[in-house]
Amino acid sequence: MTQSKSVYIAYTGGTIGMKRTADGYAPVPGYLGQLMGEIPEFSSPRVPRYHLEEYHPLLDSANMAPANWLRIGEDIERHYDDFDGFVVLHGTDTMAYTSSALSFLLENLSKPVILTGAQIPLAEIRNDARDNLLTSMILAGTEPIPEVCIYFGTRLLRGNRSRKVNAEGLDAFASFNYPALGTAGVDIRIDWRAVRPAPGPGERFAVHPMDNPHIGAVRLFPGITAETLRNFLRPPLKGLVLEAYGAGNGPVTNQAFLEVLEEADRRGVVIVDCTQCLEGRVRLEAYATGRGLARAGVVSGHDLTAEAALTKLYYLFGTGLDSAQVKERMEQDLRGELTLQLSDSEFARV
Ligand code: ASP
Repeated sequence: MTQSKSVYIAYTGGTIGMKRTADGYAPVPGYLGQLMGEIPEFSSPRVPRYHLEEYHPLLDSANMAPANWLRIGEDIERHYDDFDGFVVLHGTDTMAYTSSALSFLLENLSKPVILTGAQIPLAEIRNDARDNLLTSMILAGTEPIPEVCIYFGTRLLRGNRSRKVNAEGLDAFASFNYPALGTAGVDIRIDWRAVRPAPGPGERFAVHPMDNPHIGAVRLFPGITAETLRNFLRPPLKGLVLEAYGAGNGPVTNQAFLEVLEEADRRGVVIVDCTQCLEGRVRLEAYATGRGLARAGVVSGHDLTAEAALTKLYYLFGTGLDSAQVKERMEQDLRGELTLQLSDSEFARV
């Protein structure tokens, strides 16, 4: 049944295709394609046909930068009409950044784009690569999910809600603020209630060209000084993800710290408050320590992951919007990355 379906596999690098070398695991050109050719399951009639596109150079994802996200997006755009779905093979280290970035870059997506990788290479006897890859190919070829997702372990997660949470375990990704889009157990089950609707007939797929604006991230820590923050916020920085405590709180009794934020805000730097907690959301109105940041011009990141907030800033500034437009859109749900919960007046009653 699935034989007529086809998937495009963009192989960007990562552990999944690495080979044991004298220098440790390393990507070797041609090696993954050769291995896939030797494993009968990949040519089973029950698995979609595939085209494997190997990138040069193959990257450890720790070396990825925004230009690599755009390259993947444009690759998908070039082959968009020729395949039922897309699999992006990627290192796990920055996969959540790339999946978040692609969710913004790929506008009006109506086909599945599934990022996957592995903790153990396909070349090893015991590995998670085979299942992750096979299931991702089946999902991308047969389930019309109009989203950028990560499939890993047994779960299909929304790309811009995912985080890498385990450096060793085979369930390396989690989505704390949004349910899984699907699970692969005895059967593959998609929770269609959680999947975004497909774009309307007039909404054409497009990849926005994006330049590379200066964006940064700072994680608050007890003892952070105004000087440290000022250094981060120096021009030409345009946007900053401020990873704050709990419900988005920061050291507001430090007047110099607040003045640095206010001064940056006046210059048009967009500062987005995300929580350091894995689960839950920013509620700047909840505490005096949050309200002080809001008064200094900081924008709520609601329940955005830090990865989604950072890549959303790249995307919005990269497409040429000004600071006011970026601020406004940071608090809007563009691709299912954010859930607005309580209105300000409701906050006041909490
Ligand atoms: N360092 C590798 C990478 O992110 C780890 C992996 O692939 O899992 O590319």
